[in-house]
Amino acid sequence: MADLRWGLIGASDIAATRMIPAMRRLGHQVTAVGGSTPEWAAAYAERNGIPVAGSVEALLARDDVDAVYVSTVNDLHRAQTEAAAAAGKHVLCEKPLALSVDDAQTMLDACERAGVILATNHHLPGSGLHRTIRHLVADGAVGRILAVRVFHAVMLPKRLQGWRLEGRAGAGVTMDITCHDASVLNPLLGVLPADVVALAVSQGPWGAAAEDSVMSTLRYADGTLVQTHDAFTIPYAHTGLQVLGSDGIIEATDAMVQDPVGTILVRDPSGKHVVEPEDRRDLYELGLAAFAAAVRGEGAPSATGLDGLRAVQVAVAVRDAAASGLRVSIQD
Ligand code: NDP
Repeated sequence: MADLRWGLIGASDIAATRMIPAMRRLGHQVTAVGGSTPEWAAAYAERNGIPVAGSVEALLARDDVDAVYVSTVNDLHRAQTEAAAAAGKHVLCEKPLALSVDDAQTMLDACERAGVILATNHHLPGSGLHRTIRHLVADGAVGRILAVRVFHAVMLPKRLQGWRLEGRAGAGVTMDITCHDASVLNPLLGVLPADVVALAVSQGPWGAAAEDSVMSTLRYADGTLVQTHDAFTIPYAHTGLQVLGSDGIIEATDAMVQDPVGTILVRDPSGKHVVEPEDRRDLYELGLAAFAAAVRGEGAPSATGLDGLRAVQVAVAVRDAAASGLRVSIQD
């Protein structure tokens, strides 16, 4: 279905900056946008060349919408996905899929009952760079994985310094960025961590109600250790991923970003080798193309609803560990 017809639930920045352009490059149609503030949705539709703006209910009642892209604030994802499924629309939902594992499971169940596809818009795991790293690991390039370090401390752009820093449910860096880390770690390691410890602070100039910096340590049943650093407050650092194995290491730089950039370096007994990622296609186009194929019955989305749920499991455990000061276990 080259001309998949989209309804946007959420007149958001990510839809305007990444998703609408990617949809159009793929030949998909953006039919309508539905939001909670009529004036904002109308101005947004005008600015982005979308023919129809209105309420979410009106959007879901349309026959010319095959699928919805949910990119509202995080605490609305569950109810809007359930409503879309009930209306028979396929759903691509932004991360974090939900604010709790139970909510995410409810979304999976609703979409399964309705017979519609549910995917999570995790842009990283389907990228050429991360697929290449997984293939290197599967081919034994570093031997047994002993540890992984994730560097995902960035500066939150000024235009996004709103709800993420507030006290509302779903705010904070853990649900925003740690869930991205989990979307990469889960398929890389193949299992969820057994338990998690974490510490979080609010350290930015904005006096945020929510945490804006978090470090976590994840322990896996086989003894692998993972360290993550996620922040909204760090202006000059590169992002990265290091996979530290018994027979070598993989160092990926600029690995946790939105563009198809980044380098992969393998160090092993024979020296160091640069490995070119399998492809450098736009990350959001890759996700949309896989979603459209899944709607046609060809293959699975890059990140399924279940992948989104599993990322939520890790992010929620980190959030709860930081809030309680306790070690939190995860049931895989
Ligand atoms: P925005 O803050 O841009 O938009 C979120 C919602 O806020 C909109 O849907 C809209 O609500 C409302 N809103 C925004 N601006 C205005 C305004 N000027 N006036 C009135 N209402 C406004 O969110 P983001 O694009 O930053 O994030 C949206 C979702 O996408 C989140 O779940 C986030 O986690 C995810 N995300 C994913 C990324 C990825 O790479 N996968 C990257 C960035 C974000 P409504 O539509 O209900 O009227």
